Amino acid sequence: MSRRRQIYEGKAKILFEGPEPGTVVQYFKDDASTAGATIEDADRTGTIIGKGVLNNRISEYLMTQIGDMGVPTHFIRRLNMREQLCREVDIIPLVVVVRNYAAGSFANRLGIVEGTRLPRTIVEFHYKSNELKDPLVTEEHIACFGWSSPSEIDEIISMSLRTNDYLSGLFMGIGIRLVDFKLEFGRFFMNDEIRTLLADEISPDNCRLWDVETNDKMDKDRFRRNMGGEAEAYQEVARRLGITPESGPRDLPGPTLIQ
Ligand code: UDP
Repeated sequence: MSRRRQIYEGKAKILFEGPEPGTVVQYFKDDASTAGATIEDADRTGTIIGKGVLNNRISEYLMTQIGDMGVPTHFIRRLNMREQLCREVDIIPLVVVVRNYAAGSFANRLGIVEGTRLPRTIVEFHYKSNELKDPLVTEEHIACFGWSSPSEIDEIISMSLRTNDYLSGLFMGIGIRLVDFKLEFGRFFMNDEIRTLLADEISPDNCRLWDVETNDKMDKDRFRRNMGGEAEAYQEVARRLGITPESGPRDLPGPTLIQ
């Protein structure tokens, strides 16, 4: 574990001050929690052995691919098995959910059979608040309370849809259906400019990933729904992506100056 000053501890990650100004270190824990998702039973916490290592690796891979494809992200580089260096951003207080198929609370709320393909992709916004359990909000609410500007929202929607197109294809290529996923965005201040960056993580903790052939769940729903086999499912996602983390923390170079 890092000896750096801790900024924040969330359900699945700890944020530390980075080695250079304007950077943070994300530490991936094995802890899992059902909080944040609208499920029938009470909030539950637990541990999925090895989850942090796998999510660090999976998120590194996906963020790098998405960045190369032209969507700017906060990811700089992976530091070791559980830590990655990221740009420090001001998190926009919105949870952005992209849905290709009906699932979870969405399917329940609208009375649609889970797994139904949606006529078009939906981008929805939730106000980021643990106490309020991330309530669904409209662009009217966002504008009214100034959580984000209309132009920033346009950018967020466009970045979310491009990420969805890219990830849907990437996962389809390895026999996985991208049912839905959650994104977070941040504001990065560079001289006089503000840039919107994709932040947080992209991993089976915040995507619904179903095997194309069997519809087996390969994501955190295995934990949320007490199905078991979550560590094996995360491992299988990493294996299919070709990034199983067998190399240790010493395989990487030390800190370098950030441009
Ligand atoms: N999601 C997440 N964190 C949240 C809420 C949702 O990562 O706080 C992800 C979740 O894993 C799923 C998608 O966003 O891939 C849509 O989740 P939904 O709102 O349907 O959650 P549910 O209530 O169904 O668990």
